[in-house]
Amino acid sequence: MTSYCDYLFTGGQLIDGSGEDARFADVAIKGEKIVAIGIGLSQSYVAGTTFDITGSVISPGFIDLHTHSDLTALINPRMESSIHQGVTTEMVGNCGMSVGLMRSSPQFEVERRFTERAGVNIDWADIGSFARRVEASGIAINIATLAGHGTIRKDVLGFSELAPDTSELSKMSARLARAFDDGAFGLSSGLEYLPGGYAKLDELCALADIAKAAGGFYATHIRDERDHLIASVEEALAVGRRSNIPVQLSHHKVERRRNWGTVKKTLAMMREAREAGMDVSTDQYPYTAFMTGLSVILLPSWAQAGGFEAVVERLKDPVSREKIVEYIVEDNPDFDQIRIGIARNRREVQGLTLSALGRLDGVSALNAALDLLIVENGTVLAAYFAMSEDDVEEIMRDPFTMIGSDGVAASPTGMLSEDNTHPRSYGTFPRVLGEYVRRRGVLRIEEAIRRMTSLPASRMRLRDRGLVEVDYFADLVIFKPDEIADVATFDEPHQFAAGIQHVLVNGSLAIKDGIQTESLPGKFLLRAA
Ligand SMILES: [Zn+2]
Repeated sequence: MTSYCDYLFTGGQLIDGSGEDARFADVAIKGEKIVAIGIGLSQSYVAGTTFDITGSVISPGFIDLHTHSDLTALINPRMESSIHQGVTTEMVGNCGMSVGLMRSSPQFEVERRFTERAGVNIDWADIGSFARRVEASGIAINIATLAGHGTIRKDVLGFSELAPDTSELSKMSARLARAFDDGAFGLSSGLEYLPGGYAKLDELCALADIAKAAGGFYATHIRDERDHLIASVEEALAVGRRSNIPVQLSHHKVERRRNWGTVKKTLAMMREAREAGMDVSTDQYPYTAFMTGLSVILLPSWAQAGGFEAVVERLKDPVSREKIVEYIVEDNPDFDQIRIGIARNRREVQGLTLSALGRLDGVSALNAALDLLIVENGTVLAAYFAMSEDDVEEIMRDPFTMIGSDGVAASPTGMLSEDNTHPRSYGTFPRVLGEYVRRRGVLRIEEAIRRMTSLPASRMRLRDRGLVEVDYFADLVIFKPDEIADVATFDEPHQFAAGIQHVLVNGSLAIKDGIQTESLPGKFLLRAA
């Protein structure tokens, strides 16, 4: 007796996402789901299309637990840089910032101007209407979101440094509870950023209690990833202990040479917390450079207060500028090696180090950088090679480390191609498989795939994604294990990864023979009750 299926993949090696050894198995897909797995399925299935994938691997589509594609999901639903890595689900709303919680109010004036330039009006008021908006325009991959603490705090308190009073806290709590009703998967914080960084432990725990009650987790971009890494990890674990909530330490790393090696200690802290019963894990991108706001990298926190307009005023004022310069020279002797990534008013300086910028502008590197911040109204993104390969590998070896890009979905054409973005947006997952698995042998391939699939799925409590199993959604990637590699570089970031053959999202072919199809089969995922 034969059954019908839409797609049948035969002859490939199945790496099912569980961490178990690769094995030969065919996979049949019908509608949105996987309907059969086994040897010789062509005997029992008649397929709409059969793909002979001899020599290739078939695995669950990669789940990127840490991205900032909230806005680009609306600007560019094709999300080329993500799907070409084999990513089939992204979690947005990380680092305390969730676009779905912004609204068209004076607090979000800067954001409103920014999104308008990208052709997007903030015409949603909550995560529910944001989700409907994303689905209405279609989306290449599945999107899920966290509720950003920083966004909620800004909405209720603006740039106030004070702790919320009772009525303010209840407003923040109500917005968060609503976000969970709308399907948010957890609470995110970004304590290195203002105004979110004004929050103290009590405020974070009050909100984490709500997230916990809703069945969500707490993802945190900790307060400091350089000289105060240990205290910052301790703070994250304190939230986990007090609110009894699962903790996800975002993009774990340590910055600046003087701190290299400290991750041994922080990984041990997480291990001890786990032994004491806490559910704590982390994620990581496989690069030694991070990318964030140049003002966040360079300026002392007092100089970042009040938002970008206030930053620009301080940089124009000779007295405060002098203090800022003194701070930077003391704090960050290597600042001239920072590379400009995104400068929308001066595209010609993208890709330059600050030292090259200084030569171009005929002033000192530092003055050139501060002037650039003025010209760009405070918003410059910059890459900084501040981590060590040893630490990247140390974190990757930990069995509780997931792979998360910290990227923003981009495209080699159109508006998004003009940014000198971090190559992680194009290369994270293939780079782990090509460089760290195949070339360096840091992980077994089955283990690497587990960290990209079932491990993040379990963090999200997804019951039907993250494994190749019957009745699971057919989010799948088929790739050549000997060829998969990142191609994107810091100089030329807009390049697709090599070795990805086919990608299916919810049973639809989103990439066929390396080429993205017209289909936009993604869904906005909602947390299961
Ligand atoms: Zn972050």
